Amino acid sequence: MTFIDNSDKTSPTVTVPTFSDFGLHPALVQALEGLGYQSPTPIQAHAIPVALKGHDVMGAAQTGTGKTAAFVLPILHRLMPFANHSMSPARHPVRALILTPTRELADQVYQSVKQYSAHTPLRSAVVFGGVDIQSQTEILRQGCEILVATPGRLLDHIEQRHVSLAQVGMLVLDEADRMLDMGFLPDLARIVRTLPAQRQGLLFSATFSREIRRLSREFLQDPVEIEVAHRNTTADTVTQGLYQVSTKDKRAALLQLLRDKSWSQTIVFTNTRAGAEQVARYLLRNGVAAEAIHGDKSQNERLRILDGFKNEQTPVLVATDVAARGLDIAGVSAVINFELPFNAEDYVHRIGRTGRAGASGEAYSLYDEQHEQRLLEDIQTLIGEHLPIQPALHLKPALHQRAAKRGARGTQEVADPIFHQPYRPQSDTTQPQTRHEEADKKKNKRRSLGVLLGGR
Ligand code: AMP
Repeated sequence: MTFIDNSDKTSPTVTVPTFSDFGLHPALVQALEGLGYQSPTPIQAHAIPVALKGHDVMGAAQTGTGKTAAFVLPILHRLMPFANHSMSPARHPVRALILTPTRELADQVYQSVKQYSAHTPLRSAVVFGGVDIQSQTEILRQGCEILVATPGRLLDHIEQRHVSLAQVGMLVLDEADRMLDMGFLPDLARIVRTLPAQRQGLLFSATFSREIRRLSREFLQDPVEIEVAHRNTTADTVTQGLYQVSTKDKRAALLQLLRDKSWSQTIVFTNTRAGAEQVARYLLRNGVAAEAIHGDKSQNERLRILDGFKNEQTPVLVATDVAARGLDIAGVSAVINFELPFNAEDYVHRIGRTGRAGASGEAYSLYDEQHEQRLLEDIQTLIGEHLPIQPALHLKPALHQRAAKRGARGTQEVADPIFHQPYRPQSDTTQPQTRHEEADKKKNKRRSLGVLLGGR
């Protein structure tokens, strides 16, 4: 069964359900009221009733659509009969497992679980690599009904017998497309093998690739497919456009744009870690508080940088794709693609950082016709629309000349070859923190999807 909802929320013909129409447990409705959620988003309106009935779900929803609540609320509702105040860990086995590709997303999902379960005795926990394992072990030993995890660190806990997944009745793969991109398939297979065969499966992915469809066939049973917008579309709350700029002028153009537009919080995307550092340093030199975030930074540094951005101390975050993946930061006013991504689907992910949950946002790309024409074609084909060219930026003469002068001196700064290197998404994961994460890097991410079969 497939639902496709391309409805315009403002259309008078659409009847918008309320959260209480779903028959959700009153403790959950209370939490939603406290958060000020007035009505379900389209993915929630379709996925929640289906998941509440215990069906498997394959949801295609871009980031910012409220997909986290779409799977967390049914999980919590279905776990309410098991909720108890006992101090005994044995009374709090893991019953729902939520796997995410990145630490940041794991933490965000966990925060949502805590918010939605605030008025219930259900326990939740999060485990991810890059931080001390001991404190996680102690939390796991106390027991939790809902566990949010990244695959590598979870496997370490499983192998060291810190946690048992023998009672898991619900499994969520969040941002499953990115998990495949990051080469997590073998780890997923190993985790799934430790779960009971009888379980509900919920798979969410911003985009539905052929690989995701194959994965869902292995991992879900007769799933209800739910799409809330055309596949691979971008949110219509985001204004998009292109500025035609030669590579050598991109940094000056970026600076000009940031100054002209005075956006509050802006994420600038580069294709490489080195590029992110260079751009952030350039902005800083020119008086714009910017920080780079990418996989070479430690977990603590990343959290500190994100906090600075969320608190609006640092208005500009210069990020690589994987580092920014899944970030839910309210109020990102604009996304700038310093370079077009080598992978067209990353364009959808990038601009999904703004215009979240119905807010408006702007997404502009600095486009060098000479080097990026094919990339632009791929993106436009994927999203099924043409990105409008914006009026030319009038670069301030001083900046423009400085950039040109540097070029004339022959430095590497303006035409750095790193910008033209092939894109390797898996190379942007954080430094390996565990032997599983180390091993992941060596494995061929394209290994047969059939390995997932072990779980069922
Ligand atoms: P997500 O797509 O799950 O990352 O959610 C994006 C943002 O939308 C988060 O900040 C949520 O707190 C918020 N959100 C989710 N559902 C609703 C809703 N029904 N009403 C208002 N905000 C929501």
